[in-house]
Amino acid sequence: MIRAKKSLGQNFLSDQRVARRIIDSVSPLADDIIVEIGPGAGALTRLLAKQSGYVVAVEIDARFVDELYRTVKTDNFSVVNRDALNMDWVEFTKSAMSMLHPPRRDYPDRRRVRVVANLPYYISTPIIEKLLPLGRHRLFDMTLMLQKEVADRITTGPGSKEYGYLSVRVQYYCDAAKLFEVPPSAFTPEPKVQSAVICLTVRERPAVEVADEERFFALVRAAFAQRRKTILNNLKAGARSLEFKQPVESALEAAGVASRRRAETLSLGEFAALCAALYRE
Ligand code: SAM
Repeated sequence: MIRAKKSLGQNFLSDQRVARRIIDSVSPLADDIIVEIGPGAGALTRLLAKQSGYVVAVEIDARFVDELYRTVKTDNFSVVNRDALNMDWVEFTKSAMSMLHPPRRDYPDRRRVRVVANLPYYISTPIIEKLLPLGRHRLFDMTLMLQKEVADRITTGPGSKEYGYLSVRVQYYCDAAKLFEVPPSAFTPEPKVQSAVICLTVRERPAVEVADEERFFALVRAAFAQRRKTILNNLKAGARSLEFKQPVESALEAAGVASRRRAETLSLGEFAALCAALYRE
């Protein structure tokens, strides 16, 4: 038995019913290629390998590599000893796509690369950030176990107090759904927080059309800078550094957004309209 390293966020899933429930939510098909981040001792890996076309896992802790090859008994599995935060995900998903041999000539577009991960809490947001811009042709969906609080922030819509920059950022790229919550007792050792499983299905096209993504996200970040302030005051505070082309008041009016509203009430569509109005030449 390999001892858990706290520094690597190692809380291993020990409740088989939860593992089964995650796999059932993924429902892998025989043509699916699964990228598992942080397989650890393989609680999810064994089940995934049984049901999918191929599983390629990325694990930072070298101690698990041999253990995984020994316990995942199917040959449609490989693991690389790498840090998921420091790798080229475009290259990696491209090579994962070639794992099913031979590629089916009649069916090439139907092979999906799907991420499944019970993520250590400290890397969950940076990992999601890395995977989001890959696009649907590289990554079909991500089923992730996260700290419940982060899961709520990602999946909630306007009007809720959890809705913020991260919600807009993820929902721009993905259709986000919270699937179910998981108590600390499902893990060994038990984490201090409640967890939740979410599914992010990468959209064919972003949820809204924006001329410049970098500007759009900078604007959203500024809008949420001080949650208790109105959208007008937050944007006025950021106006100089964001180099708006139009005065904030008239842009709000043009976008049909009342100036006393708070950012947490704006939909992605409203943020996009506001961005267009602020940068109108
Ligand atoms: N999937 C296993 C399970 O459900 O029992 C383990 C989950 S545990 C919460 C997180 C796993 O991610 C650990 O195996 C840990 O070593 C691995 N990990 C931590 N940081 C990582 C990183 N930067 N890149 C890849 N794996 C990482």
